[in-house]
Amino acid sequence: MATRLYTHPIFLEHLTPPGHPERPDRLRAIERVLDDEAFSALDRVKAPEGDEKTILYAHPETFVECVRAAIPRTGIVSIDADTSASPKSWQAAVTAIGAANAAIDDVFEGRASNVFVAARPPGHHAEKTTAMGFCLFNTAAIAARYAQKKHQAERVAIVDWDVHHGNGTQDIFWDDPSVLYCSTHQMPLYPGTGAKSETGAGNIVNAPLAPRTGSDMFRDAFLSRVLPSIDAFAPDLIIISAGFDAHHRDPLAEINLTEDDFDWATGQLMERAGRHSSNRLVSLLEGGYDLQGLAFSVAAHVGRLMKG
Ligand SMILES: [Zn+2]
Repeated sequence: MATRLYTHPIFLEHLTPPGHPERPDRLRAIERVLDDEAFSALDRVKAPEGDEKTILYAHPETFVECVRAAIPRTGIVSIDADTSASPKSWQAAVTAIGAANAAIDDVFEGRASNVFVAARPPGHHAEKTTAMGFCLFNTAAIAARYAQKKHQAERVAIVDWDVHHGNGTQDIFWDDPSVLYCSTHQMPLYPGTGAKSETGAGNIVNAPLAPRTGSDMFRDAFLSRVLPSIDAFAPDLIIISAGFDAHHRDPLAEINLTEDDFDWATGQLMERAGRHSSNRLVSLLEGGYDLQGLAFSVAAHVGRLMKG
């Protein structure tokens, strides 16, 4: 079985204001790097249309309808200081959810050895009732609940190595011990949550990193906090909230990882997926705002996924 890649042209049509870091060119940079011959074995699939009803797995209907009502007919509207929507944003967000849920189906039904979803908008800052931090809906949270409802997964681990704390994912699973949420992130940094003391129902594991942290401390946090938590939890599925903004080139943060660190972390999670989850591993793009850092990091991540 091959590594599957979900993309869709609609992801380029979620528009943000000029100069905004979360821009369509991010996906173009990823497409370019994955066009290389080294990735010819990727099983490339156009994302299916998403099922809007699955948004309700992580968000109440009143909030979903608020977002729907905010989508403009023309132009770009602000949803908060740094989150915006354009006419195709709804379709992009729902298709991102469709891709993530299809990826869950793939790993449970044996159609892919693992899956990377290259979609936008990202999702991990979206709380139950708040769209924020470039995110409308929490795709990773919806996919985790989808795996539980459709495939009877009892325990799902979400590992979030985006440089920002996934406050939304933490919020959604705060009192739900069936989902383990592990995050490495810079602190202090937006959105301000993610202290070690935030532990939810014992299912939240935050590993904050000081500014200017490099490879050694990141790997140490993974080895000492994230991986032992996964081993103790023994998940049926691992979802990665794969943001690449902890790369040293990224303009939004001050963590100094290289693409080798993402290669390494991917390998560690694949090893855990093999040990606990029958290799079921789904990776969802979150942040990453330096186009070269993002492209190199995705290449390292996907290249490692393909090594099975
Ligand atoms: Zn981020």
